[in-house]
Amino acid sequence: MPHKHELIAELKRRLRTQRTPQLPTLVMPVATEQRYAVEVAAAVTNQGIRDIQIIVRRYTEELAKVQDAPANLGRELKTLLGSITREEALGILPAAREAAQAIDTANNIQVAQQVEAALGSNALVALPNPEAKLQRELERFLNESVKFVEKTRKKSVKEFSDLAIEHFNKGSDVGTLEQALVDRLHVSQSRAKLIARDQSGKYFGALTRARHESIGVEKYRWTTTGDSRVRGEHQARDGQIFTYKNPPSDGNPGEPIRCRCVATPIFDD
Ligand SMILES: [Zn+2]
Repeated sequence: MPHKHELIAELKRRLRTQRTPQLPTLVMPVATEQRYAVEVAAAVTNQGIRDIQIIVRRYTEELAKVQDAPANLGRELKTLLGSITREEALGILPAAREAAQAIDTANNIQVAQQVEAALGSNALVALPNPEAKLQRELERFLNESVKFVEKTRKKSVKEFSDLAIEHFNKGSDVGTLEQALVDRLHVSQSRAKLIARDQSGKYFGALTRARHESIGVEKYRWTTTGDSRVRGEHQARDGQIFTYKNPPSDGNPGEPIRCRCVATPIFDD
């Protein structure tokens, strides 16, 4: 098997003598992304429902007393909701691993198809696989996933406790408080879905970059999904050429928040 640098030199030599054909556009596996978003939202929901039950019980007890607002209700609730353990957030890992695996497989196959279209099927045989880089990206994805669930819990414990105090001071009945908590939970659910999808897109983009760079590709053509949801700024970029090391100010495709654009490699260099 030839060394990586020999292979890349050979690919480049061959490419100088031919025009790059139309390459297949990478496609993020949307079903995987959606399934994962549902899993992350479910983790957030399960925590939230449990927290709401605890708060409602404690609030009801407090209302039954004849005294004024307890000075420590907020602090007390935070204690009651329990310490936010990393261990708990780790529960998202199996779903995250499954999503990562599916995203990686789709990316691997699709980048191979691009290489094959550009260089012929022989080029695929000795393609270097950037294992260490891919492993780092996987760890980053899994880590971000756990961190997000952990952060969301921490944030909602604070928001829930604040809401309880606010409603206690206003003299709300328990049903009113419960509705406010549920509304707040819905906001967290939507946000969880958005973030999970964003993390999946970033992971897909990072894998693309790692695989392209491992075969000596430094430049790419910015490619949008071509639908009406593409932001104007990225629409204007469609078809333009950038380098991975010097991307637009908001990053390489997939890096800007909720960006669904992809990189189409430029081989003829
Ligand atoms: Zn975009």
